[in-house]
This record gives sequence, structure tokens and C-alpha cells, in this order.
Amino acid sequence: MVRTCSKMWAVALTVLLSAAAPARALNIFACEPEWASLAKELAPEADIYSATTAYQDPHYVQARPSLIAKLRRADLFVCSGSELEIGWLPALQMRANNSKVRDGQPGAFYAAEQVERLDVLGKVDRSMGDVHGGGNPHVHWSPTRIEQIAKALTQRLIVIEPANAERYQQQLASFLQRWQTQREQWAAQASSLNGVQVVSYHTSYRYLYDWLGIEQVGDLEPKPGLPPTSGHLASLVSLHKQKPYQLIIYASYQDGKAANWLSSKTGTAVLGLPYSVDPNKEQLVDLFGLYQTAIDQLLAAVAADG
Ligand SMILES: [Zn+2]
Repeated sequence: MVRTCSKMWAVALTVLLSAAAPARALNIFACEPEWASLAKELAPEADIYSATTAYQDPHYVQARPSLIAKLRRADLFVCSGSELEIGWLPALQMRANNSKVRDGQPGAFYAAEQVERLDVLGKVDRSMGDVHGGGNPHVHWSPTRIEQIAKALTQRLIVIEPANAERYQQQLASFLQRWQTQREQWAAQASSLNGVQVVSYHTSYRYLYDWLGIEQVGDLEPKPGLPPTSGHLASLVSLHKQKPYQLIIYASYQDGKAANWLSSKTGTAVLGLPYSVDPNKEQLVDLFGLYQTAIDQLLAAVAADG
């Protein structure tokens, strides 16, 4: 009798649980691979798609029909925000016509808007170039901000799927534990990078430099969003004569031509850093690998410089 009873309860419970669980996996659209990677940490069962790769400039993306179709099916998008995708995401949202991912809905998640941003400017006009007035959006290079974004994204997942709240909290706890341990190890490992002066391309690594104490003394871009010009590069050669910098850095989505030219003129080492996660490369398969690889490369470049 008792056994039958518990069996009946088990059946009832199964029915209840299957009613509560979604009919299909949560569909997540990430604008950039770093957010696809974070989403995978926090919602490993979800169906996750990244609109761009680490080799594409996330500022400039074509609103292709395939992207529109992906966003149309999404329950949630995870994008940088703070104007990074201003040239393409609004067009995708409009054409996808999916009410779940309209701004202000739970399905619209902007990572940079969950954290304090660096370089927030008051007034911005076109003469300043393609500047990010609302603050630097390249926040995935700040490990503490990654933690804040992970917490905010978990809250959002719970709003969308309250039945899975407990599971999402467990996944967050597991991620934070592993990430915080790594963050401390990385900081210790990279301590010799503190005070290193670099010329970099755009403000793509602003948060990485801020974290590790690297100083960006020049930018290959004459103005944000504008490609390097010969006159501007000449000024970076003069800068090196007055105040030698140790490294020239560009990101995996940027053209290395200007960086290599400047390197040849100044004798300064040049380094192409990975900008984001690359699921096809073992070393860069997730955010952990991305950070480790960047730190290893920076340390090797500085050590080689002597
Ligand atoms: Zn930018």
C-alpha cells in the first residue's frame, strides 16, 4: 500500500515537473562569442548561438537574413550594449520582430549595462570619431565585471525560467567559484605586467589593461573607429623616441598591418592578442582559456623584450 502510494506520488511529481519544464531548450542569441561562452557556463542546457566570431569586428556587422532568423527564434539575447552593437543590433531587433527580445523585455540583456563602465563621456559629437559615449563596452576583459554580469545574467535566466531557479543558482555558484580562484591566480601570475607601457589598437583591451596595470600610451587609431593614417603612425614613431613603449598590441579582429609597420620602425615587439573565445581552438574554447592565453602571451612578449 505504501509502495503504491509513493509510486503514485512519483508519477504525479513527474507530471508536475514536466509541466513546469519548458517544452524545448532555452534559445539564446549572443552578439559576441564571449557572451555565448558565459551563457554556456550559466545555462549549459540552452541552445546558444553566437552572431559573430573572435575574428569579426563587433562594431560593424551586417544584419544578414540568417542573423534575423536566429534572433526571431531567441528567448534571450546577450549582447555587450553601451553602443557596441548600435550599428546592427537595432536593425536585427526590428526585422526579427520578436517581442521577447525588445529592449526593456527580460529577453534583452546588455552585459555592459550591468556594470560600471570606464571612460563615460558627457557629450559626444561626430568630430570625436566613432566614440563610445556611454562608456567603454569591451567589458569582457574585466574579470570582476564578468562576475557581476554572471550574477545579473543568472537573475535574468530565472525571470525567464523560474522553474529552473535552483539549477541556475547552482551553475552560477560553480562558475563563480572556479572564476574567482583563477582570477587570483592570474593576477599573481601577471604581476610583472604592472606598469608596462603599450600602444594598442582602439580601446578593445581597456579593461584588461586597467586590471593588470598596463598603460596604453598611444592608439593606432587617430580617432576611435578610424583606421590608422600615415601621419598618425609617424606621430607614434616620434612618441617612441621620446618615451619608448614596450609593446604594440592589436586584437584578433583587427588588421595587423599598421602594428607591424610601427614595430619595424621602432623595433618594438608586436603582439596579436585573441579578442574573444574561439570554440574551434582548444586554448580559447572558453573565457578561462581566453584569459589564460592572453596573460601567457603578454608575459612571453614582455620577457622576450627583456
Ligand atoms: Zn569599441
